[in-house]
Amino acid sequence: MDKQQMKVKVYGARGSYSPVNGEATQFGVNTTCFRIDVGETILIFDAGSGIIPLGQDLVKEFFAKDATLDNWVTHLFFTHMHIDHLIGFPYFAMLYLPKSVINFISPRILDYDLKDVLDMFVHPPFFPVSLHDLPVTTNFYHMAEKYVVYFFEDNTFEIKQATEPAPEKWIARVQSIRNFMHPKGGSFFYKITSAAGRKVVIASDTEGFLGGDQRLVKFAEEADLLLHDAQYTFEEYQKFQGFGHSTYHMACEVAKQARVKKLLLIHHDPSHSDETLKQIEKAAQEIFPETYVASESMEFTF
Ligand SMILES: [Zn+2]
Ligand SMILES: [Zn+2]
Repeated sequence: MDKQQMKVKVYGARGSYSPVNGEATQFGVNTTCFRIDVGETILIFDAGSGIIPLGQDLVKEFFAKDATLDNWVTHLFFTHMHIDHLIGFPYFAMLYLPKSVINFISPRILDYDLKDVLDMFVHPPFFPVSLHDLPVTTNFYHMAEKYVVYFFEDNTFEIKQATEPAPEKWIARVQSIRNFMHPKGGSFFYKITSAAGRKVVIASDTEGFLGGDQRLVKFAEEADLLLHDAQYTFEEYQKFQGFGHSTYHMACEVAKQARVKKLLLIHHDPSHSDETLKQIEKAAQEIFPETYVASESMEFTF
């Protein structure tokens, strides 16, 4: 892969839980997980059930190029730690391979370290084995709004203060801002920028504002792709106001004001059938023409 190129792939686009009615299949059933490749660097956002098929793909890819690699490195970020963003983690194939190294780069939410949350979750009685007994090597790093994570061609990275000068020869960088519109500890928005200047913003689990979330509008300015929560129709929103999720109107408003090139609606309600999702896409395109409802296996290259 060209070291300047950025590839985004959706592995899970559902919110809350996987649909159980057996009808909603065209857009996929897995909860949120997104993969972004820049050169050899593999960035993963969230570990909903979508991380299970992602793990299966990664195992195949790493075995195919095994001879040239000492370690199989992935970098995992979490938007927050609600169960729909975590449920696939214990089944992530990269946990079970001795050559696998996972760098967890995450903010603290509700005063919990990600390491403590994962140690609790992948542990009896929730899971038969403990995270620290698995063959994978795990490294934990903190980030916050004031930090920028720079990735380099050799798959190493550096975390710098936003006020510090950028290091030389980075190929991708990740920034985040705290979103307060999600109960109870909020979530984190991420912006991934390639050295070529292409930008992807992930804004999952957020309830928009009338007139658009201006902090997010600024953060997502002129992004090539904005992934935005659009769990509810307007009618549903009236019942679920305050639950921390958006309508497509809110997502479109941010996309319009931020002048993004493409909007991808994510975190679909588990009750939404293919028919409902297609109607949402059509209605959203009337507000912001370059809007698409995210479905599993969707890929974008910049
Ligand atoms: Zn969620
Ligand atoms: Zn959530």
